[in-house]
Amino acid sequence: MDRVVKLEQIEHFDFITDVAVCGYGGAGASAALEARRAGSEVMIFERFSSGGGSTALSACEMYLGGNGGTKLQQELGFEDSTENFYNYLMACFGKYADEARVRKFVDGAAEHFDWAEGLGVPYKRGFYPGRDVVAMTGDSLQYTGNERAYPFNQQAQAIPRGHLPADADHDGGKVLMGHLMRNVVESGADIKYDARVLSLIQDENKRICGLLVKIDNKVQAVYARQGVILAMGGFIMNESMTKQHIPQLESICTRHGNPGDRGDGILMGIAAGGNAIHMGQAFVGIAHYPPSDLTYGIFVNEQGQRFINEDIYLARLGDYAARQTNQKAYMFIDNKYYSRPDYHETTEIIAVGETVEELERESGLPEGSLQHTVAYYNQHAEQGVDPLFHKSADWLAPLVTPPFALVDYSLATLKPTCFTLGGLDTLPTGEVLTAEREVIEGLYAAGRTASGIPRTGEGYASGMSVADATFFGRQAGISASQTSRNEPPV
Ligand SMILES: Cc1cc2nc3c(=O)[nH]c(=O)nc-3n(C[C@H](O)[C@H](O)[C@H](O)COP(=O)(O)OP(=O)(O)OC[C@H]3O[C@@H](n4cnc5c(N)ncnc54)[C@H](O)[C@@H]3O)c2cc1C
Repeated sequence: MDRVVKLEQIEHFDFITDVAVCGYGGAGASAALEARRAGSEVMIFERFSSGGGSTALSACEMYLGGNGGTKLQQELGFEDSTENFYNYLMACFGKYADEARVRKFVDGAAEHFDWAEGLGVPYKRGFYPGRDVVAMTGDSLQYTGNERAYPFNQQAQAIPRGHLPADADHDGGKVLMGHLMRNVVESGADIKYDARVLSLIQDENKRICGLLVKIDNKVQAVYARQGVILAMGGFIMNESMTKQHIPQLESICTRHGNPGDRGDGILMGIAAGGNAIHMGQAFVGIAHYPPSDLTYGIFVNEQGQRFINEDIYLARLGDYAARQTNQKAYMFIDNKYYSRPDYHETTEIIAVGETVEELERESGLPEGSLQHTVAYYNQHAEQGVDPLFHKSADWLAPLVTPPFALVDYSLATLKPTCFTLGGLDTLPTGEVLTAEREVIEGLYAAGRTASGIPRTGEGYASGMSVADATFFGRQAGISASQTSRNEPPV
């Protein structure tokens, strides 16, 4: 079926509403709630028999700060100025960053924490100071990204910004979505489950005025007086799209998402004249910690050379590893710091040796390469410096305790978790833009259907997706409900 159909082709509307929300995950639920609160009639169409999407699968870390700090940051003694937060995000995404979007986010992110807490999501006033992907202590604040690592520590003051629902470990998404969806139901939004959105409806002025949805095996037409919001997640589950846009990851990635991540929203947006951007960018997760002591190890490539400071966030490692020759990466580590990484328990040790020379021989790395790398690293680590990659002194120690090991972190072996970051170009209001950056009337997008705050794996931090999806979902709901109402043709 065509992803866009003409209004004149529609003979009868089965439903009429103000704002039609496609997808009932984090972005869609946030959009629906705000549109209802602003006084619009809202219908939500969700493909599956329950809502939640990938947001419910997530740990629901939310990356928030600015304005002096969220209530949680402040109560735990952390001050985070808006400029500091802005500088950090701009450092993360560099030339990919959308300044207007980043500005909107840093201005509103502290209030967004109040919004989440106001929904009923519990946050514990506890700070976890360690290095872990998700704090398993029940605490609600932690560092989640590259804040303390070079070069980011040169460009912004390191502040913990990962906000986690209390005592939820990896299940924070269920907590958030439980409260969010309860609020949506109480707001009076009309939710249709087992309702797969197929196409958008476009009027003669190219304004989007509704959609076609399959419910009970019947295609039904919906007229939306104010607008349609696309919040249908990313495209990591769509093999033809991943082959096209992230071929370098296609055969090696473990697809991280829900089965609905098929790019339906992006494809409908494109069909309506929208522009999809940064489609080749993805999160590639190589969790080389916890345990945090593994950070003392060093990563080398096929040439036996280091390529990164190992105190970075796991998706930055994934991004850099994906760019090494044959996507090969190995951790060299000594007996003092060696252990299995918690999230990749099956990592293979490909060589061991009582000396680096012996290990190098067994590994097949070019003769002398690893010996040189390790000697150079150890010589400087002894002084507490890393002249090549500026790893923090906190994680620098000479690797001198035999036996030594080389552990395979190559992408093909590890099959890291991946999800997509490309999506529709939108204004911070959620309005979908053409390639000329003109607004497509009546069409909004948020969450992984749009290209949001996190635009590269290189700059990603845990918490950026859910914060972005819910924050900009809200903006899309507010914007749509501020649009004047158009009436359906009789
Ligand atoms: C295991 C896991 C852990 C993660 N942990 C974190 C974390 O802690 N912090 C973080 O920031 N990010 C995390 N992420 C990433 C993050 O969860 C997602 O990027 C984000 O939640 C996406 O939100 P969304 O609203 O765009 O999509 P979703 O929440 O996936 O919602 C999209 C909805 O649209 C529906 N849909 C799709 N197609 C159609 C259609 N044609 N018609 C109707 N409905 C449709 C889907 O069924 C789904 O319900 C994690 C991801 C995973 C998989």
